Amino acid sequence: MKPNLLDFTYPELERFCSELGEAPFRARQVWQWLWQKRERDFGRMTNISKELRERLGREVDVVWPEAVQVQTSRDGTTKFLLALGDGQRIETVLIPEKDHFTLCLSTQVGCALGCTFCATGRMGLVRNLTMAEILGQILVAREHVAGLAAGQAQGQTQDLALRNLVFMGMGEPLLNWENLRRALVALHHPLGLAFSKRRVTVSTVGVPGRLAELGALDVASLAVSLHAPTQELRARIMPKAARFPLDDLIAELAAYPLQPRQKITIEYVLLGGLNDDLSHARELVRLLNKVKAKVNLISFHPSPELPYAAPDMNRVLAFENLLKSKGLPATLRKSKGQDISAACGQLRAEMAALE
Ligand code: SF4
Repeated sequence: MKPNLLDFTYPELERFCSELGEAPFRARQVWQWLWQKRERDFGRMTNISKELRERLGREVDVVWPEAVQVQTSRDGTTKFLLALGDGQRIETVLIPEKDHFTLCLSTQVGCALGCTFCATGRMGLVRNLTMAEILGQILVAREHVAGLAAGQAQGQTQDLALRNLVFMGMGEPLLNWENLRRALVALHHPLGLAFSKRRVTVSTVGVPGRLAELGALDVASLAVSLHAPTQELRARIMPKAARFPLDDLIAELAAYPLQPRQKITIEYVLLGGLNDDLSHARELVRLLNKVKAKVNLISFHPSPELPYAAPDMNRVLAFENLLKSKGLPATLRKSKGQDISAACGQLRAEMAALE
């Protein structure tokens, strides 16, 4: 099988072009075709010589994940079921905001961590995604958005750009560190996907050592899935993640490098009757007193296969108000796309839906 050109970082593409005897600016042209113009056919890369186009066609491929199912929910959230080269499947979710789209990306097929509230965790880990498979999700989504924009010209829909990325889909990003790192660096390239680092968020349960590497790379904001204010409760809700002791995780977060007005987002899914008491809110405030944090509360959406209930809305609001009254910024995230199982923790690449 030929290598996928989408797996090349920019310096690797430059090296590849120079091995083919080409000038460095050729790499720039090819990179723009791949990432800005979303071209997969070398034959259509018209500012490149015919010889080079033929040579590229002989040596490498350009392979995107294939959208085998696209579902759009009542609130406009779109979930893509994507088939990878080896037949594995992942999901990626495009969420419309007021003036842009946000894309929720997967980094692994399945996940090894098995958090008890998460559908992906029930799959176990199948494999890591490559850089091409991570960034290919953006290409698929941008192509879809371009189609919407074309429809908009005929008055059908709003013209929004895909500007925000959250690594919150299937998998634990920091357990696929090498491919994530390559993808994070590549997606900021100004001649390519050109994402601003302020608009990219990596969400993790916290992986020892990797947090510091992500901080040093300085290419994304950090969100941490905490979901409990004590080690004992966290170990019940997310047993494998909790092997990284809570005190050590909090110490790493307190030392995490941040810009002056930047904060770490703490994700906290409220599970009815389990972690949604006001006593938990008070403990959370105490736990985070040395971390520059804002809390994102998520009301759990029940699913038949998961052993939890939705929290009572009055308790959710009381929890949020207590955090705010103690000076800890908190927002209640509206879970979008629930009617198509695209909400947080619901992704699992439903094969059955296709058969
Ligand atoms: Fe993995 Fe995240 Fe699900 Fe936990 S919540 S099992 S880390 S995908």
